[in-house]
Amino acid sequence: MQVFKFGGASVKDAEGVLNLGRIVGAHRDSMLLIVVSAMGKTTNLLEQLVQHHVNGTDSAADLLEETKRYHLAIAQQLFPDHDHPVHNEVANRFVEIEWILDEPPMDPYDYLYDQIVAVGELVSTTIVSHYLNAIGLNSRWIDARDYILTDNTHREGRVDWKVTAARIQERLPGLLESQFLVTQGFIGSTSENFTTTLGREGSDYSAAIFAACLGAESLTIWKDVPGVLNADPKWFDQTELIPELSYLDAIELTYYGATVIHPKTIKPLQNQNIPLFVKSFIDIENGGTQIKSTNESLPVPSFIFKVNQVLVSILPKDFSFIVEDNLSDIFSRFHAHKIKVNMMHNSAVNFSVSIDDTGSNVSALLHDLQGRYDVQFQNGLELITIRYYNQQTIDRVLIEKEIIMELKDSYTCQLLVRKL
Ligand code: ASP
Ligand code: MG
Repeated sequence: MQVFKFGGASVKDAEGVLNLGRIVGAHRDSMLLIVVSAMGKTTNLLEQLVQHHVNGTDSAADLLEETKRYHLAIAQQLFPDHDHPVHNEVANRFVEIEWILDEPPMDPYDYLYDQIVAVGELVSTTIVSHYLNAIGLNSRWIDARDYILTDNTHREGRVDWKVTAARIQERLPGLLESQFLVTQGFIGSTSENFTTTLGREGSDYSAAIFAACLGAESLTIWKDVPGVLNADPKWFDQTELIPELSYLDAIELTYYGATVIHPKTIKPLQNQNIPLFVKSFIDIENGGTQIKSTNESLPVPSFIFKVNQVLVSILPKDFSFIVEDNLSDIFSRFHAHKIKVNMMHNSAVNFSVSIDDTGSNVSALLHDLQGRYDVQFQNGLELITIRYYNQQTIDRVLIEKEIIMELKDSYTCQLLVRKL
């Protein structure tokens, strides 16, 4: 039994769905659970829709129309027969959003977000599952919310592994004997049956949850890149494909911000020793990357770039030392504003961190800290992480850059820099 995951880019249009059909068709004799994200940029559109609804602007209805039109057009291309049930099913998936838009936005933002944004995955899987059946690949649509139980933390649902595993193990192996299963990434449900999401780009994590609970032979994530590269081609011209990667290196790379796989994906697979393949859906014969248990370290230094960083320096107002009670107070404030620390440095009287400049919640955090501390900040910075660094790699990334803060351990070097 294997698990395949297809992200938004792989199903952004009708051609993408045809391609997915070809990939699944090449595995027609395997037992396969297929996890699919929302098509193309649907999640971003639905996010905007939530924002407009909460702000009370008319654009929410326009965005709904746009999202609907996009999906209906894909369905139209794949199923020219107007009477095919898929057309009604696609339209019906949006009714839930229409109902929400009919009411004033009384519910908490994060709750509304989950109820609306999850529709992206519900509709993409509806189209994919019908399409596989249409080309003779017998498949069944499964509602991930019947399996993945989370707590009530909307937008970042924490998975109840015990219940989730029991539900998956009880039903899915039997169903997989006779058909492919198609289900949604990114979504789960609370014990009261309210929809939750697992955090942006969380479909990889969903696929890992299903793979781990099923004890799958492997998980394959089909991407628009040839596999895991040693740097994002957005920043570097000469990137190298890493054919094999240890779970530990993969965890470290994603922790520091490599976006190729969602950071939460690796651990559940590592616990069960399930290999993870990252492969290109464009060049399907290419071997891609295999992430597995190995003592081999990365063959080449790897680079991770994060732009739009703010350096926040925090000093006690009374010139006292930064000690444990200050630190725990500072961290609890970061936690309360849902801000993740990308790099930190502590000296006797100053605690400095680099964080993503995400706008309003950063301003709120700074305001909050200013009540108790002297706070200085610098924005417009870039954070460069090099795993398996050496002096040559450091020199390479520092061209026309000035170092603001630097941290090194035996494997990893982090440089917070400003462009000169
Ligand atoms: N559709 C969701 C997102 O774009 C989940 C995912 O793609 O993994 O964040
Ligand atoms: Mg996506």
